[in-house]
Amino acid sequence: MLCPVCNGIRPLELACCYCLEPFVDCGPEQDLADPYSPYGPAASVFTDTPEGERQVEPVCIHRLYCTVCSRSSKASIPLER
Ligand SMILES: [Zn+2]
Ligand SMILES: [Zn+2]
Repeated sequence: MLCPVCNGIRPLELACCYCLEPFVDCGPEQDLADPYSPYGPAASVFTDTPEGERQVEPVCIHRLYCTVCSRSSKASIPLER
């Protein structure tokens, strides 16, 4: 499982919701030593399947920054095989 953005397979194409300029990718959150991160070192999100099962979907949390209005955001990139 690898992150397509970290591995250069796919560019991160997300626009700032305030000024619609493309966000700058500041890299994966895991590389930062942030003990207060709500995601923890191994990021994952929960998705509920139609069968009612709860699946853990591994994601790579990327930090985004808008150079135009200086806002920061985060994006969850689903890992690919
Ligand atoms: Zn990544
Ligand atoms: Zn912006």
